[in-house]
Amino acid sequence: MPIYHFPLKKREEVAEDTMSFHFDTSGTDFKFKAGQNCDFTLEDPPYTDAEGTTRPFSLSSSPNLKDEIVITTRMRETAFKKSLKEMPLGAPVKVEGPMGSFTLHKDAMKPAVMLAGGIGITPLKSIIEFATEENLPHRIILFYSNRTPEATAFLKEFEELKKRNPNFDFVATVTEGEFPEWPYAHGRIDEEMLKKHVPEISKAVFYSAGPPQMVSAMIALATKLGADPDLIKTEEFSGY
Ligand SMILES: Cc1cc2nc3c(=O)[nH]c(=O)nc-3n(C[C@H](O)[C@H](O)[C@H](O)COP(=O)(O)OP(=O)(O)OC[C@H]3O[C@@H](n4cnc5c(N)ncnc54)[C@H](O)[C@@H]3O)c2cc1C
Repeated sequence: MPIYHFPLKKREEVAEDTMSFHFDTSGTDFKFKAGQNCDFTLEDPPYTDAEGTTRPFSLSSSPNLKDEIVITTRMRETAFKKSLKEMPLGAPVKVEGPMGSFTLHKDAMKPAVMLAGGIGITPLKSIIEFATEENLPHRIILFYSNRTPEATAFLKEFEELKKRNPNFDFVATVTEGEFPEWPYAHGRIDEEMLKKHVPEISKAVFYSAGPPQMVSAMIALATKLGADPDLIKTEEFSGY
């Protein structure tokens, strides 16, 4: 597995308690496919704990983004994330990868139905961005659930991608409380929501990424609705 050392270039808040970290890949041969992940190891971090200094992260940026890769994470008071938040710009992290086969299927006749809860959006954002930039013919429908509008990362980006890509549509939904200003859906991703927006469920390739409980719930839902088990792709964020 190739190993790289990429300096931290930029960090930004992209939703409530959610940050993106940009790393400079210029001058290297690093390449990845949209949807893949890497192991990130902090070098000389200010905080450490028994969980160690390495975490896998999906890359949330498109492979077309020049000279940088981006990861996005919910911030917590863990040693790893405190270190990531405080490390100086320019400091390197060790990156091993890319890894994984959570990538867009080839047969564009099959629609992609993407089911994301919270931070599970990261590899899907990369795939949808890439599909849009490359004018891929795949029909893509994203169901994206968060607790609140403030916790919904990349909403503006998805609104822009929808304008640019006639094959892409998304249903964003919030699960906690009522938000009168929120123009999208309320409530969990459920049978009714999927049936309303996905015409031929048995032909679709399903994608679900995120914390294991969320992924299990989404597999159960898709299977109950008649999804072909061979056409369900998952990326479990074990560690959550
Ligand atoms: C293939 C893959 C891709 C991934 N991609 C992403 C990604 O794109 N973005 C992302 O954020 N993560 C991703 N993860 C998960 C990531 O690697 C970390 O495991 C996760 O972010 C938690 O790291 P941590 O430092 O916060 O917790 P750790 O320090 O690793 O926490 C250890 C344990 O404490 C628990 N814990 C710690 N803090 C809290 C808290 N506040 N509330 C509840 N429980 C807590 C955790 O559940 C865990 O069991 C991915 C994992 C895999 C395997």
